[in-house]
Amino acid sequence: MNIAFFDDSLKSPVESVQFQTNDNRSLSFQIKRDDLIDFSISGNKWRKLKFNFKEFESGKYKAIASFGGAFSNHIAALAFAGQRAEIKTVGFIRTHQIDLNNPTLKMAEQCGMTLVPVSRDQYRLRHRPEFLSALSQQYPDCYFVPEGGSNALAEMGVAELAQEIQTVSNISHIALPFGSGGTTRGLARALPNHQIFATAVVNDEELIEQVKSEFDNVTINQKHLCGGYGRVTPELSQFCIEFFHQTGIPIEPIYSGKLLHSVCYGNEYDTQHLDKTLVIHTGGLQGLKGLLYRNIIEYSDWQPVLQHLGFTEA
Ligand SMILES: *Cc1c(COP(=O)(O)O)cnc(C)c1O
Repeated sequence: MNIAFFDDSLKSPVESVQFQTNDNRSLSFQIKRDDLIDFSISGNKWRKLKFNFKEFESGKYKAIASFGGAFSNHIAALAFAGQRAEIKTVGFIRTHQIDLNNPTLKMAEQCGMTLVPVSRDQYRLRHRPEFLSALSQQYPDCYFVPEGGSNALAEMGVAELAQEIQTVSNISHIALPFGSGGTTRGLARALPNHQIFATAVVNDEELIEQVKSEFDNVTINQKHLCGGYGRVTPELSQFCIEFFHQTGIPIEPIYSGKLLHSVCYGNEYDTQHLDKTLVIHTGGLQGLKGLLYRNIIEYSDWQPVLQHLGFTEA
């Protein structure tokens, strides 16, 4: 086991962005490039896994297990981190069959992750204590991290992001995507004097209401879902490509694309706010491979972004 690399990461850079919208507005804001922390253990998944891996140091466990969809950034990050840390990992994947042509699962397998298919019906039970205790009997010695990596230890990692944010001057607003809400919760708790603008990428009304009621500095915007989790409209895809073209910053349509679309085109952000807004690039660019694999995006349209990232067509 070797998890020291989690302590060696550099602070992610903050960059100034200028973007010209279709309707000729010139926007400028700052973006924190958590996507650059590490290419494989990307963005907020690095933050969320760090202290979960440290928990493993207690010596009570032999492997780290978690849950995710077949193209999950969390599963990809866990698999890479496990390989680098020389810790066994197990991924319970929501799918009827493990498809090793799927680029995310192929990488996870190559990293040594044990992949276990879980039916949709079973998967729905993943947060239930009786399901988890049955699994931990089948997989004794496993340390279980919830789907998306969101738990109390994840928030400790997000608190480190918050510390870095506090060193950026003239920032009163933070914008980030909202999936399982772990990153939003961690930032809202650690930065009570900042306004947190989260763009929902998952249509989970109950969770959204829950988080809104927990914090008075959190606003969750549900207007940029584009039809639901993982849905990509041609306009959204075009926006991501245009954003890269103008800024040189690669984004993908599932998380950062919906976030930046809301920042650039949502009228929740007036110029006043934007000047004082720090946008968090939470990473997740490996997800582009899965979108290509499913023909949700076209290689020819996305070529500049994909080449920048070193992703080839096959
Ligand atoms: C997982 C993920 C998120 C969602 O973060 P939560 O803490 O689950 O809300 C956001 N962005 C990217 C790129 C992700 O991979």
